[in-house]
Amino acid sequence: MTPLLRVNDVAKAFGGNQVLHGVEFDIAPGEIVGLLGPNGSGKSTLLNTITGFEAIDRGQIAFEGRRIDQMPAHRIVAAGVGRTFQLPSMPRKMSVMEVAMAASTAHHGVWGTLLGTAASRQAEAAAHAKATALLEQLLLTHVRDLPAAALSGGQKKLLGIVCALMGDPRLLMLDEPTAGVHPNLRRDIVAALQRLNAQGMTLVIVEHDMHFIREVCTRCIVLDRGRIVASCRPDELASNEHVVRAYLGS
Ligand code: ADP
Ligand code: MG
Repeated sequence: MTPLLRVNDVAKAFGGNQVLHGVEFDIAPGEIVGLLGPNGSGKSTLLNTITGFEAIDRGQIAFEGRRIDQMPAHRIVAAGVGRTFQLPSMPRKMSVMEVAMAASTAHHGVWGTLLGTAASRQAEAAAHAKATALLEQLLLTHVRDLPAAALSGGQKKLLGIVCALMGDPRLLMLDEPTAGVHPNLRRDIVAALQRLNAQGMTLVIVEHDMHFIREVCTRCIVLDRGRIVASCRPDELASNEHVVRAYLGS
């Protein structure tokens, strides 16, 4: 079976700092993969290369059998890959609803908006309905008219998920979705991610919290200094010598 995502021999350096060294892994449809590794091991950079925020120096990335490594970020979104950010920053002057709606305009192009046609009004109404439903699912209805910048850190993470979901991704990659999030909201995020997966969405999640990983992930891949050193079930992590070495450092 064709993997949903295939990352093949991907290398990336910033100046003289070689951050990814020929990274290779596949993601199968339906998986919930935890992407683990110590700080600075290259997890966010790996997400940035897959989603077109950073160009790769070497290698290939394919989604559903199609190369995406030369595509600009917006085309990768259109191809079906969504992502959230480790530290979501929100515009000061837009409301939560407006931020969610803007994510939709980004996916469907600006032509209709510019032309102001009936079709675009219809698209806008559809985006509004979708944003309303997603804000409800991710428990943000009560803050939808507040400035997005006024949200708590955890609520910004939820809004980041809403924005990614506006593009109907088949693969959603999340960068530390529960770091710094209140335990109540963390439960909500876990429930939302499990629901999305049950509906058929494949997830790759950068996460440090072992409770979260054991509860949510079907497989873990571990990065150490820019190399994949392990791919195993969450319950096998503690007995994997490469994982132990990555975290203890040697
Ligand atoms: P992680 O997410 O695993 O903590 P990162 O991917 O953020 O790790 O960082 C890995 C390395 O890449 C670090 O040494 C970091 O300083 C470097 N790095 C990441 N992004 C950039 C960038 N845009 N420019 C220069 N160096 C970067
Ligand atoms: Mg990171």
